[in-house]
Amino acid sequence: GSVRRLNTAAALEELVTPSVQITYTQHLIDGKFVDAASGKTFPTYDPRTGEVIAHVAEGDAEDINRAVAAARKAFDEGPWPKMTPYERSRVLLRFADLVEKHSEELAALETWDNGKPYEQAAKAELPMLVRLFHYYAGWADKIHGLTVPADGNHHVQTLHEPIGVAGQIIPWNFPLLMFAWKVGPALACGNTIVLKTAEQTPLTALYVAKLFHEAGLPPGVLNVVSGFGPTAGAALASHMDVDKLAFTGSTDTGKIVLELAAKSNLKPVTLELGGKSPFIICEDADIDKAVELAHFALFFNQGQCCCAGSRTFVHERIYDEFLEKAKARALRRTVGDPFKKGIEQGPQIDPEQFEKVLRYIRSGIESNATLECGGDKLGTKGYFIQPTVFSNVTDDMLIAQDEIFGPVQSILKFKDLDEVIKRANNTRYGLAAGVFTKNIDTANTLTRALRAGTVWVNCFDVFDAAIPFGGYKMSGIGREKGIYSLHNYLQVKAVVSPLKNPAWL
Ligand code: NAD
Repeated sequence: GSVRRLNTAAALEELVTPSVQITYTQHLIDGKFVDAASGKTFPTYDPRTGEVIAHVAEGDAEDINRAVAAARKAFDEGPWPKMTPYERSRVLLRFADLVEKHSEELAALETWDNGKPYEQAAKAELPMLVRLFHYYAGWADKIHGLTVPADGNHHVQTLHEPIGVAGQIIPWNFPLLMFAWKVGPALACGNTIVLKTAEQTPLTALYVAKLFHEAGLPPGVLNVVSGFGPTAGAALASHMDVDKLAFTGSTDTGKIVLELAAKSNLKPVTLELGGKSPFIICEDADIDKAVELAHFALFFNQGQCCCAGSRTFVHERIYDEFLEKAKARALRRTVGDPFKKGIEQGPQIDPEQFEKVLRYIRSGIESNATLECGGDKLGTKGYFIQPTVFSNVTDDMLIAQDEIFGPVQSILKFKDLDEVIKRANNTRYGLAAGVFTKNIDTANTLTRALRAGTVWVNCFDVFDAAIPFGGYKMSGIGREKGIYSLHNYLQVKAVVSPLKNPAWL
């Protein structure tokens, strides 16, 4: 424990001043930075202190109307959908190069606005962003339809056409990566976009959208509006001229946007929602490795991951040893200013999430789970929370059922595979799952039985542009990344003509 306290105290005392300037705070509509139609702005905060970083244009229905009009015009009349797929691919590649060139500023801005460790942003997330645009640049000129034999009397071909104007609403936990997952495939397919960022983290999307224009993206193809959900977000979801909606965020908001889409123009909707993912550690596991991976699976990104391994199921035979080591690992976790080297955990995003996590911790204590370590806030400013571990967690407790979205590990004991499969699946969510075992039969049994969009075996949070991601059950609709994401942004048109035109007979 002393190691953590030493590091933490030092890392919270003097904060590093980020070496990046905030240049872009207006909406980016039709290739130009513009103020909100209402002239309003809203503050975005530094989660390390709660201090204002910048004031940003506050979009509402009128700004969304303007952005959609620009995207509509760019789709109907502009060069983007009509240019050769190879030319589109070149724009995506040039953009990826510019991101690489600016990755230090971008990582600093991401950390400043979000609170995630700078090293994580710079060394993991920025390279993933670049990789994703390389990947979809590769797809841009490989999208094609089929020739269908049909009845033998007709020439039948399918054309895979862009769907039109895509509305995209993203969350605050991975602002740049969520931008990439949505924008990459939509542009590769030739669509135009109106993207609404999360109100907590508006800064980096504006920066990269500017880079896209430097890379040669025509005006109106990618429009970025900052603002709040019930105003700007709802206006986008219900817009009659938006042809497709992609949303990432909470399950409750997912239901709202699906309804808005249905009540307006029935635009197809893809949803990436919450999770309560099980991480199952079998009796044959190497305990030290399992402890480290389970720790990472939950605590990564301050616990603010939709796929966090938030139910750690441990076989009863190794439970006691695992628990001791998991607690020791949490106590060693370095918490502090995310700009400092070696810091594993920064602050939670905002006061709402901070209070929500602390409420769940109190709920765990009240429901008689054993608080092994942590359990409180840290420091006197900002939204830092101690790495917290609960043992003796049972399935009926709120902390085992709800998405906490914070650094709170819940450890549950199990006896055999049949039991753990039932319990792992006994949730309304189905985003991800983890399995830790040396036994191939156990791994195969679990990967087939678990109802989740991703199952990681002896690893966790392995992401790649080519690996699809999405949820079963109330964790979502559809898949992002990989080849699967292209289907979200394409329409299929069947073109049918007689092989022998009767007029020629
Ligand atoms: P949220 O669902 O409210 O916000 C996500 C996005 O939706 C934001 O851009 C927001 O402005 C927008 N939005 C909110 N209300 C809207 C509405 N009525 N119409 C249209 N758009 C709307 O999520 P949050 O409040 O930021 O976080 C709440 C919880 O969501 C978290 O505690 C966590 O459980 C979950 N969450 C999940 C993910 C994920 O990746 N699956 C990401 C962030 C948060």
